[in-house]
Amino acid sequence: MSGTLYIVATPIGNLEDITLRALRVLKEADLIACEDTRHTRKLLSHYQISKPTVSYHAHNEYERSTELLKKLEDGLNIALVSDAGTPLISDPGFRIVSEAIARGISVVPIPGPSAVIAALSASGLPTTEFAFVGFLPARRAARRARLKELANIKSTLVVYEAPHRIKETIEVACEVFGERECVIARELTKFHEGFVRAPLSEIEIPAGQARGEIVLLIGPALERSVEQPENTGAHSILEQVQEIIRSEGLDQRDALKRVARARGISKSEAYRLMLQERGRVSD
Ligand code: SAM
Repeated sequence: MSGTLYIVATPIGNLEDITLRALRVLKEADLIACEDTRHTRKLLSHYQISKPTVSYHAHNEYERSTELLKKLEDGLNIALVSDAGTPLISDPGFRIVSEAIARGISVVPIPGPSAVIAALSASGLPTTEFAFVGFLPARRAARRARLKELANIKSTLVVYEAPHRIKETIEVACEVFGERECVIARELTKFHEGFVRAPLSEIEIPAGQARGEIVLLIGPALERSVEQPENTGAHSILEQVQEIIRSEGLDQRDALKRVARARGISKSEAYRLMLQERGRVSD
């Protein structure tokens, strides 16, 4: 009889975020396959679990899968963990899981933390449908091309992003998508956990916070709202801005920001269109 491959979710920061079942499975497994054995040892020693570990990471996934599958076929139970969160979610594990299934070995998920779900659940963005994008390409041009492919998806996008690229990714996203609601979820479950919520064109990461681990969430394209020209009787951006200044006493900058947001375009794009309209009016 083959053993079982358990896919065990582990904390993404706070060590208390581990299920009783995960702890039991780790205690009872014959072997724990870890992305980084030294990293997982800290978790195991915190819970006084003493078990043999073996590395299973992006660079040895192929060879190690073959070895581990043999052990599973010999009847050993193996728990697979990654450094943080759920294995296979932007982490190694696909190879051994797909091969185990192909060989008729039982694969059992032990659910728990994942940054994508933690970030989404507290983001305030629509959750009925969401698209998990994982990491975007590192090069700016490739990142832009990927974001263009995603532009027609009508659900919240969840992206894993490196802190040194977040500013540039937001700039590119703003150019590609126009205005959308955006959330940066940082250092989830850790001491410096924080959320920044704002439209793409306005979002700023407070000084000193462009570090740590980040999930970037981008809301679906903004729906036309009561601020749209059809509802106010105004048809151009210029008319709409003037209408808001007149009726609400806002200054031009804030009125333009509102119009841009309602139209799902960036402030600079709205400003450019308004100048064009002004040119046409004075012609
Ligand atoms: N398997 C993990 C999961 O289930 O979330 C993801 C692993 S992936 C290699 C690491 C990325 O996940 C980070 O670069 C970051 O984007 C995101 N991440 C992981 N832990 C996080 C945390 N505590 N706060 C915010 N983002 C986190």
